[in-house]
Amino acid sequence: MTSLADLHFDNRFARLGDVFSSRVVPDPLNNPRLVVGSADAAGLLGLNPAEMEDPLFTELFSGQKIWKEAEPRAMVYSGHQFGVYNPQLGDGRGLLLGEVVNPGGEHWDLHLKGAGSTPFSRMGDGRAVLRSSIREFLASEALPVLGIPSSRALCVTVGDNPVYRERKERAAMLVRLARSHIRFGHFEFFYYNDREDDLRRLVDFTLQTCYPYCQHEPQPVLAMFRTVAERTMHMVARWQAYGFCHGVMNTDNMSILGITFDFGPYAFLDEYDAGYICNHSDHAGRYAFNRQPVIAHWNLACLAQALVPFIDVEVLKAELGNAMPLYEAEYRRLMNARLGWAGQRPEDDELRNELLALMQGSAADYHIALRLLAEDDPQARDQFIDREAFDRWLVRHRTRQAVDESAMAGRLACNPVYVLRNYLAQQAISAAEEDDFSEVRRLHQILREPFIRVPGQEAYAAPPPDWGRRLEISCSS
Ligand code: AMP
Ligand code: MG
Ligand code: MG
Repeated sequence: MTSLADLHFDNRFARLGDVFSSRVVPDPLNNPRLVVGSADAAGLLGLNPAEMEDPLFTELFSGQKIWKEAEPRAMVYSGHQFGVYNPQLGDGRGLLLGEVVNPGGEHWDLHLKGAGSTPFSRMGDGRAVLRSSIREFLASEALPVLGIPSSRALCVTVGDNPVYRERKERAAMLVRLARSHIRFGHFEFFYYNDREDDLRRLVDFTLQTCYPYCQHEPQPVLAMFRTVAERTMHMVARWQAYGFCHGVMNTDNMSILGITFDFGPYAFLDEYDAGYICNHSDHAGRYAFNRQPVIAHWNLACLAQALVPFIDVEVLKAELGNAMPLYEAEYRRLMNARLGWAGQRPEDDELRNELLALMQGSAADYHIALRLLAEDDPQARDQFIDREAFDRWLVRHRTRQAVDESAMAGRLACNPVYVLRNYLAQQAISAAEEDDFSEVRRLHQILREPFIRVPGQEAYAAPPPDWGRRLEISCSS
């Protein structure tokens, strides 16, 4: 275990120099307080979780103090937003504090989100509000428990500084952890600016720091692209299997590590709706739930384009051709596990799609329906309007399902009882805005153990009340 003061930094990205990032100093929060911290995330740094109680922790993660060895930098990138190339993005409201090396020798980026303006802030104020910081914190810590790869979150702090959105709010900061903050948009920036030497340096850096084993392949850049494609499609398969809608799959929000990144107006489904659009600003539904696999593939094509200087175009096209089957195989595997169907059979897709169609027609709650099925609970039937059709489906499902007890345990272990529904996040946010952080902390703890029903926690397993259905979340946060 390391103490806060003794965190060891090795700032590799900063050493790449001013072409890739700019030095910035965080603009601190006034009267900062700790809203919530993650002991699990602290563990990734080798930090003793007890240190979260230390006032120094809040000072460091609200920009009030900074380690001598940290070298805060705002990264430059560009990207395709809603399908349109934006040549100048970058860390506009966040910065890379530095790279911590944990006691196991792993590098972890410490990113302070909401740290004030940077050279890339454009018209923005560089701030993050409390509600969006809490939303990113909760998702970052809840997704990995479901097996969904994601950036992590160490803590949220809040200050007195006013921030003006649709109304006056308070500034907050989120400390994001990831093994890398390099996005697809980093590569696009240097490619579209015709800076091939810098692009080459970025590719080499990514190979060394994220994909060292690809360096030994005959074509290292190709091996890296193949791995990114596989990881990205597997990540989306997990989103689809667990009903997670990202909401803003712009290429600047796609991690080169294939982890869920940059949480905005995300949502877990409540009632099953394949075409659900969680982002209030997404009028055309580009990032609707059922479009996520296709969009991930489109985004990989953007990354491929930026790698054209290093890989033959036909080879890249062939790799892209392999990506969707990777998604499909992984999605099938995950859903078969959730449904308790051993192995894979030709009729599985049809049988699963029939269930999803029944859910859609009944506005069945996606998580409750799957959990009740996993528990063999007859109340699953109550989720459906066309009961006869459900009964017919159930007969075929039972025939398909493995029946021994270990199979039941396997099903329960991949069908969560507790899910980060938007209304649960909203309840916690409303309390936090009144300076009561207990609900954020409680929800965070509940989501650490989502697969076991706990007496007394029934309210957290419930479908949304009327006010909490289809909450509209916008990008302005
Ligand atoms: P996002 O929608 O969060 O992925 O952000 C898209 C771009 O806008 C990124 O370059 C962000 O850094 C920038 N941005 C978002 N919000 C702000 C803000 N409040 N101040 C400055 N830049 C911002
Ligand atoms: Mg972003
Ligand atoms: Mg963002």
